[in-house]
Amino acid sequence: MSGRPDAYTIVSHDAHDAKHYGAVHLPVYDSSLFTFRTVADMEREGNEPEGFVYSRGNNPTVRSLERALAELEGGEDARCFATGMGAISAAVLSSIRSGDHIVCVDQAYGPARRLIGEYLRRYDIEADFADGSDLAAIESALRPNTKLLYLESPTSLFFELQDLRACTAMARARGIRTVVDNTWASPVFQRPLELGADLVVHSLTKYASGHSDAMGGVVVGRAEAIRELSGSELVLLGSVMPPQTASLIHRGLRTLPLRMERHQAGAMAVAAYLESLPFVGRVRYPGLPSHPQHELARAQMSGFGGLLSFEAGRDREKLARFVDALTYFRIGFSWGGYESLASLQEGCAGMPRRKTHAVRLHVGLESPDVLIEDLAQAFRAAGFDERERDKDE
Ligand SMILES: *Cc1c(COP(=O)(O)O)cnc(C)c1O
Repeated sequence: MSGRPDAYTIVSHDAHDAKHYGAVHLPVYDSSLFTFRTVADMEREGNEPEGFVYSRGNNPTVRSLERALAELEGGEDARCFATGMGAISAAVLSSIRSGDHIVCVDQAYGPARRLIGEYLRRYDIEADFADGSDLAAIESALRPNTKLLYLESPTSLFFELQDLRACTAMARARGIRTVVDNTWASPVFQRPLELGADLVVHSLTKYASGHSDAMGGVVVGRAEAIRELSGSELVLLGSVMPPQTASLIHRGLRTLPLRMERHQAGAMAVAAYLESLPFVGRVRYPGLPSHPQHELARAQMSGFGGLLSFEAGRDREKLARFVDALTYFRIGFSWGGYESLASLQEGCAGMPRRKTHAVRLHVGLESPDVLIEDLAQAFRAAGFDERERDKDE
């Protein structure tokens, strides 16, 4: 065997540490502080970057999860946060100073867009938003004082991709840092650091946790960048992950590759079924050959997640009736857990952008046959007719 271990091996194997009595899964170090026999011992530990002194800085249970996540993403180090937004705000704040300019993908996660485009204006930081699927649009949004290119590929409602290799190369040539939100694909299917990104962020609340029972976020990157952010945004803003949560998310991580393959298989089946229906318009899923960026998706990802969306006519009430009639898909906004979810959302899609609403589905771990049958009965209940075409397409 050669090269780096695969995701299955990484999540199944932790480096053993004699301190933990051979425990297979690291115990939860539910301790806010660590004590010492002597002042000298305390000073020595406190001067070590990996020293355990106080849990807002370092905690063994959290560090163990951070090491696993860094290895999965192919990064040198990682730091966990209380939520995905905790990680995103730390990554953004550590990359800019007052007077800088940010370019952000216009379909990025809503609260990330608000942080970048609204909140940071208070601190004299300007931002422009560009269609991420158009490299020229990103390039023309760059200014001499642009210091950060914020990407999310694919985006999580209309699943538009950015060419990560091209974007990161363009940014690097101008001394601009790139941050990529990799939540949709997970590190199992996409590793943006290997495509040139400086920092990767995740909402661990989604696939990494996988059980809809915990919230968390992570920033992964080179050791130097992570050290900088640890000493400032992590300990000063204090949005740290509690040890109990770290243990829970680490347990979820053990089955991440298995679950991703199952989500992918289910989503492929559901997407193909939706595409076969005459009254369904565009089905947005990067794994479908009909996705306008399918070739790019195959070039920079090794698989596809469980989240997709589709349009079916302009009648919002009819679509709402469809969502209400679902039984296995529960109505909710998050995703990445074992359970299938549906929501009706609005946004601007396509080139040029037009306002539209779409049903977003998270395909959980249930049998795809059962889920497809559920979709079929809900379409019938809402009055969709197999003989009707989607007139908008
Ligand atoms: C949910 C989500 C976030 C934010 O994560 P939280 O854990 O809810 O703070 C960021 N990016 C994407 C793509 C998400 O889906």
